[in-house]
Amino acid sequence: MPDGSLPFVDISKADLQKLNHAVCQDNELDVRILRLDRIHPIISGNKWFKLKFYLQAAKERHMPGLVTFGGPWSNHLHATAYACREANLKCIGIIRGELKENQSQLLQDCADLGMELVHITREEYRQGAAILEQFPDINEQYLEVPEGGFGEYGIRGAAEIYDLLAPFDPQLVACSLGTGTMMCGLLSQAQPHQEVIGYSSLKLPDPIRNDFQNLASSLNSKGKFRLVPNYHFGGYARKTAALVSFMNEWYRTTGVPTDFVYTAKLFYGVMDMMYRGEFPRHSRICIIHSGGLQGNRSLPPQTLCY
Ligand SMILES: *Cc1c(COP(=O)(O)O)cnc(C)c1O
Repeated sequence: MPDGSLPFVDISKADLQKLNHAVCQDNELDVRILRLDRIHPIISGNKWFKLKFYLQAAKERHMPGLVTFGGPWSNHLHATAYACREANLKCIGIIRGELKENQSQLLQDCADLGMELVHITREEYRQGAAILEQFPDINEQYLEVPEGGFGEYGIRGAAEIYDLLAPFDPQLVACSLGTGTMMCGLLSQAQPHQEVIGYSSLKLPDPIRNDFQNLASSLNSKGKFRLVPNYHFGGYARKTAALVSFMNEWYRTTGVPTDFVYTAKLFYGVMDMMYRGEFPRHSRICIIHSGGLQGNRSLPPQTLCY
């Protein structure tokens, strides 16, 4: 993949689907959903974009592979494992939490895809990338991908998502926020008449992940940005009965499946703000469906109708 071609995702499937909903008509809003969830079942949504320049750099520098970080249900780990296999690179996942408390289908899938899993304690994990000093061989040879792809390459890749929505020329771009890498990428391209609104999937402020706020400010974007903190439903990877019933209801009325960690909170938040009349009339709004549907496998069977 050194030529940067896209051999394993199908970007043409990421169409801008019009949302036909009474609340859009009532407020005269033109709302489109950018269906990044359709480009690939595993490297879905934003993950491909955030990884592509790391993959390319490892190839160009003739490195054996990537080393990255995540918890037992990290879509980022899953996508990295799959992408490295496709790109013919090795990969190592530094996993938050010891093995015994930490069996998940997702980590099993990562191992099956060839990722080498290194379990460390939660305390060690909190050190962040500094933990790699304990693994000098990995540290010297492998290209480090920060958690969630957060970094220059990740942002540059996520910036390409903007090209897919640019033809619609929205005034508002709504996206989910984990590490903020995707939001920074979108923001780096936004024009003066555009605002990127990040719906946080975690409680803010977050001691580990508060640096994206600074980063977003340092991008010198022409566009505006806003963080919406109040749709986290209890915090990262938490959920409530109301969120789950919204997911089923949303699927039944729009045919759009969501994941409970990120996109359900995003769509819930956008819809709620539309009902409250918080967006100016006649706005064009693009909601980024950033994928992540495989995360729903951690829910008990029958929780969702899809
Ligand atoms: C990983 C992920 C995010 C978070 O993206 P960041 O760039 O870390 O903010 C959002 N949505 C989905 C579906 C994801 O899998």
